[in-house]
Amino acid sequence: MDFNRVKLPREIHSGPGVINETGSICKDLKLTGKLLVASGPHTMKIAGEKVIESLHKYDYNVDTIIVEKPSLDAVSQVQDCMSNVNAVLGVGGGKVIDVAKMASTQSGVHSLSIPTAASHDGISSPRASIKNQEGSVSMEVEPPVGIIADTKIISKAPFRLLAAGCGDIISNYTAILDWKLAHRLLNEDFSDSSAALSLITAETMIKSAGDIKEGLIESAAIVVKALISSGMAISIAGNSRPASGAEHKFSHALDIIAPEPALHGEQCGVGTIMMMYLHGGDWEFIRDTLKTIKAPISASQMGIDPQYIIEALIKAHTIRNERYTILGDRGLTEEAAEKLARKTGVID
Ligand SMILES: [Zn+2]
Repeated sequence: MDFNRVKLPREIHSGPGVINETGSICKDLKLTGKLLVASGPHTMKIAGEKVIESLHKYDYNVDTIIVEKPSLDAVSQVQDCMSNVNAVLGVGGGKVIDVAKMASTQSGVHSLSIPTAASHDGISSPRASIKNQEGSVSMEVEPPVGIIADTKIISKAPFRLLAAGCGDIISNYTAILDWKLAHRLLNEDFSDSSAALSLITAETMIKSAGDIKEGLIESAAIVVKALISSGMAISIAGNSRPASGAEHKFSHALDIIAPEPALHGEQCGVGTIMMMYLHGGDWEFIRDTLKTIKAPISASQMGIDPQYIIEALIKAHTIRNERYTILGDRGLTEEAAEKLARKTGVID
């Protein structure tokens, strides 16, 4: 008999101004004593200070640390500040939150996720990744116990980040197809409830694609809710299968190969167009939806040289090669990779 364990966040709050409720939410989570606020230099000003103010109202003792650059060094620096700390509040874009999730997991304390942008599902998922010279390190972490997504703050972040978040959500389509393929070919565990949640999340977001516009609180709400439920699908599955397939392998390969990679979600969105083509699915629908959202659909829009797209396609199957996808064990030949990228209009 297999045991199944699902770990999920306990308090999820979103809405305009909800950041000012941080102190009360921490009380609801029964957090006591000293809390550490980890934030970036800019996000400390636009969000971190509001978090601290709210915590002070509830008599919390607060320490702060500025994460200048997300790296494994930053994770150790945050850990060094954690003696006598009962929880870490990661306030910032996805990267600061990943640093907070890694540091809290390694030190055995809770973390809270307080995103200032909605650019990928790391704001809620039990995984964290940090870029280094070899691409990125990705690891399983404890999911945050609380998520506080202030849609007013998120709506003011650069629109490019929100559009990238949509690319990360649209990935769910090909991720599920890859997961089903691995289930059929290799008898890999498949969770119907996780897959259903992942797909309904992408469908709901796509239905609202026309409403996702710059500067609107409602648009930020659509994307942030979808990213949170994608993260939940990952928690239910116990791995990132429901939100990460061949399109993510392509994005990770680009991170290694391209001198200046684009955003994670942007690359995953473009990857989804191409992987959907390989699956024989409606790749034009994926492309058109990304276009409506104003997310990039080509190498030139991502500012990436076509040669790196082809190299990444050829290399993609070697990334996390235990994860079987439409790319198979051998991957694409150079000719097939070039054909794929041209056919889907990713390169011209
Ligand atoms: Zn992703």
